Amino acid sequence: MTKSEDCWVVETVNDPSGFRTALKAVGGLKEVDSQQSLGVFDNPTFGRVMVLDGAYQITTADEFIYHEMMAHVPAFAHGTLRHVLVIGGGDGGVARELLRHPLIETITLVEIDQAVVDLAKDHFPTVCDGAFDDPRLTVVIDDGAAFVANTDARFDAVIVDAPDPVGAGKVLFEAPFYAGCHRVLREGGVLVTQSGIPFLTPQWMRDHAATLRQSFGSVRFFLSTVPSYTGGPMAHSFCSDDPSLANVDAATIKARAEALGLAMRYWTPTLHGAAFALPRYVDELVAPASP
Ligand code: SAM
Repeated sequence: MTKSEDCWVVETVNDPSGFRTALKAVGGLKEVDSQQSLGVFDNPTFGRVMVLDGAYQITTADEFIYHEMMAHVPAFAHGTLRHVLVIGGGDGGVARELLRHPLIETITLVEIDQAVVDLAKDHFPTVCDGAFDDPRLTVVIDDGAAFVANTDARFDAVIVDAPDPVGAGKVLFEAPFYAGCHRVLREGGVLVTQSGIPFLTPQWMRDHAATLRQSFGSVRFFLSTVPSYTGGPMAHSFCSDDPSLANVDAATIKARAEALGLAMRYWTPTLHGAAFALPRYVDELVAPASP
């Protein structure tokens, strides 16, 4: 359904925290036929916005921040990613950034909803930016949790570009899914997830960190500031059995970046390390429980 009048699209996903955000939809909200509640609208500051199950997913103005951090932090930390699994991410933004790394040979993107991929191709061309036409990318329409439980393929990195832990995305924050991710990772591999806004959901953040530690020996977090994800900085988990991956020295990260010469808008070699420095209130939430 397309509404022609301007309206305000209210983000309801943080209702349990007593917190709402609203963006003006100039020209109205276009609802898309999908198994989920999916829509698109335009906003004067944020550009084109995708909304899913009451949460803004991406905006064309600030998506570069989230997608650069989800892709380049694991890619430059690992250094030799060749085979990458993306769970969710049907807008193509994480795949787009990963494809800038010439060593990456394959990206398998497991998205539950074909309608998101179609919406991205039709309405968010600057986000997917040709990623779906790249022969290195294979799109699988499936539940990410089922995929990691059943596949025989192995990956150097798993990037979980999930929505909030509601609806179809809930399973992507549960222990069996992370055990599946660990199972499909090669030795020395890394898992990165979006981990929400710690200020808004502190208890959820504590539980999330503890759940990840059931599968991974090293669970660290880095932060990004994405204006449309309101309520404070967003956290991303960085999980491995190799603690050194989250501590690669600045000179090595810089050398890896210079070798590729990629122009970024948010990620820099200096910011890479700095993003792992957590404000105390976040550090206390995600610290391992004392024995
Ligand atoms: N950047 C966004 C955020 O943090 O809100 C996430 C964007 S991306 C559009 C999230 C995608 O995950 C959606 O397209 C959704 O369809 C997909 N998804 C939800 N549950 C899934 C599941 N169980 N398996 C695979 N994909 C799933």
